[in-house]
Amino acid sequence: MTGTKALQDQSPVEIDEQLYELYSKQAPFLNDIASASKALKRIDEVELEIAKGVTRNAWVVRDGNKERYETIVAEAKAGLAALRELETPFHDEFNARGGWTRAYVVSGGHVHKSMGCSTCFPTTRFSWVTDFSGHDEAEIVDAAGERACTVCYPSAPVDVLKKATRIFTEDERAAQADREKRAAEKVERDAKKAAKAIEHPTGEVVRDGYGYPTKTEVTAQTGAVDAYLNSLYRPTQIAGWGDGSTYAGTDEQIKNDEIVRVNTEALAFKRGTDVDTQLDIVREKAIAKFIKEFGTDEALAMKDELKALRAKNKARQA
Ligand SMILES: [Zn+2]
Repeated sequence: MTGTKALQDQSPVEIDEQLYELYSKQAPFLNDIASASKALKRIDEVELEIAKGVTRNAWVVRDGNKERYETIVAEAKAGLAALRELETPFHDEFNARGGWTRAYVVSGGHVHKSMGCSTCFPTTRFSWVTDFSGHDEAEIVDAAGERACTVCYPSAPVDVLKKATRIFTEDERAAQADREKRAAEKVERDAKKAAKAIEHPTGEVVRDGYGYPTKTEVTAQTGAVDAYLNSLYRPTQIAGWGDGSTYAGTDEQIKNDEIVRVNTEALAFKRGTDVDTQLDIVREKAIAKFIKEFGTDEALAMKDELKALRAKNKARQA
């Protein structure tokens, strides 16, 4: 803590840090003054309009409004004055020592020796780099690198002006941290996406439950289950037409069998198991669906097979 140390014994960094803290407390007062002054200006305008009988905004000047804003301004000014009083000993100490080097940085801009630099504007917002208060100018210029203002530091060596800067505003640091966070989140998202992704080892097209190409593991399994389910109920359905048509040998059968083959191969590749294991998983789910959703005699007759498959698949997992 610098609070217990006499001002004369404190370093420029210690003194400027306290000054900076006092400066940063000015913002709410300055904001209050700005917004209340604007409101007062509007009230004056409306009062003029009322005098001329041309306003529809008389509500702006309702009783006590003006006084309220005037009080806000007066209180903020008093707050600022109190802060400035607290700043005085630090300024006095700075002057008593004949001053010291200070560095200021503009967001997205240069590092300057003072806030009075001719390259800046009255509206320029400076961040005070108090870490460098009282440090050698050469050290500051070296840290500023490419950001060193050549008006403030005319003797900055050309090679130093090519160096990457090590001086940033708080906003810039926050933005950098934000970029890094986003990049890390993207890596995580990509990893999750990759974890869900599926591909057939030789590039054959894996299909979902609607027969469309898919690239995720979950839909690949659903695709295989639905294709297998088709091969369970379609033969009976087609035979029921009574016109001698059969499921066997149809394009539909070829397509379904193909989906089951390609998808279970891709699933086995993805999961590091064999195709038979995946086929048993697909059959278990397809038969369960057949029984639950169709409940026909053929479906119900498969209950024992389902039971056996469940046991088999469970044993494999263990
Ligand atoms: Zn400058």
